[in-house]
Amino acid sequence: MAEKFEMAYLRTLDVGNPLKADAAKYYSTGIGDYKALQDYIFRFIAIESGRLGMAIHIHAAAGGGGYFNVAGGNPMLLEPLFNDPPLRKTNFVLLHGGWPMSRQLTGLLTKPNCYVDFSWQTLMNYPRDVSETIRA
Ligand SMILES: [Zn+2]
Repeated sequence: MAEKFEMAYLRTLDVGNPLKADAAKYYSTGIGDYKALQDYIFRFIAIESGRLGMAIHIHAAAGGGGYFNVAGGNPMLLEPLFNDPPLRKTNFVLLHGGWPMSRQLTGLLTKPNCYVDFSWQTLMNYPRDVSETIRA
């Protein structure tokens, strides 16, 4: 069981660590920083998922459509989450291997709570390219 996030389709993958008061302000008034509310909710779900032994799956690759924010979907933007002490019990699975940043992604595999899945890469890349990515 896991929670899957497709936030790369809607916003960048940089998740901040907002104050609860900033998230609550936007929630109650609609005024302020909407990203603070999103980030607060993401962190809450991720911490609870870790406590319950559930992984977090994150769409981490260029998505469909001609106007997907490829740079904003760079999985390297998630690194601060993997290092954050409250999230160290949460396992994160980066779906689709981070394409086209697959090689950068291998550096994130040094984190004990970060995993990569290679689904979808075989639909977008040549078999040799996928095999070299997996080998790396
Ligand atoms: Zn996906």
